[in-house]
Amino acid sequence: MRLVFLGAPGVGKGTQADRVTAQFGWPKISTGDLLREAVRNKTALGLEAKKSMDAGKLVPDNVVIGMVRTKLAESLCGKGFILDGFPRTVQQAEELNGILAGSGIDLDRVINFRVSRQDVVHRLSGRRSCPKCQSVFHVDFAAPKVSGLCDRCGEALVQRSDDKPETIEARLKVYDEQTAPLIAYYEAKQKLSDLDGSGAPGHVYDRLASVLRGLGAK
Ligand code: AMP
Repeated sequence: MRLVFLGAPGVGKGTQADRVTAQFGWPKISTGDLLREAVRNKTALGLEAKKSMDAGKLVPDNVVIGMVRTKLAESLCGKGFILDGFPRTVQQAEELNGILAGSGIDLDRVINFRVSRQDVVHRLSGRRSCPKCQSVFHVDFAAPKVSGLCDRCGEALVQRSDDKPETIEARLKVYDEQTAPLIAYYEAKQKLSDLDGSGAPGHVYDRLASVLRGLGAK
């Protein structure tokens, strides 16, 4: 199944995409993860992207689209994929249509995760990640066994620089202005399914899996 996971930062798209990948086998393509990897590896693309990411702004469309084009090429012949965090602008959505149409395929569904603004801010500000193995924790909802240390590899956990309060505000503003219009865009194409993203990850996953099974996922 070819899916897009849409929603504000912090709604849990990445966490749910990992679960869906584990259950159904469709690979997750997360532009945020790909960009953070490029930043860690200090590639030219990473150095360019870092400025926008640290400011809570979107990385320029041409940079992100080039990256997705390469990554998607690996998944187009497979059983499907989950795009997490892409598209984030109408231009990106149009480019995606073009890439898929070029291979004679289309998206099956866009899942729009809905969570209250208050919950989103709480989820983002408490998120901590491991700089070594990339595991993600939350100070309240998914605390590590030893405070501040990664359960998997013991490394000291860090807060993503774009999860600091000022940057969270900027990211949510960018979402409202540039990404939220995609809801109407995909609704008009009759591709959108709304999903209540509130509550524990397991409960959200149960709702999501039932939507996907309703769409024929096995
Ligand atoms: P995320 O992990 O999806 O919240 O992404 C982290 C940051 O990476 C965002 O705040 C943007 O700066 C950048 N980014 C991720 N995906 C995109 C995209 N599709 N278009 C532009 N910038 C992106």
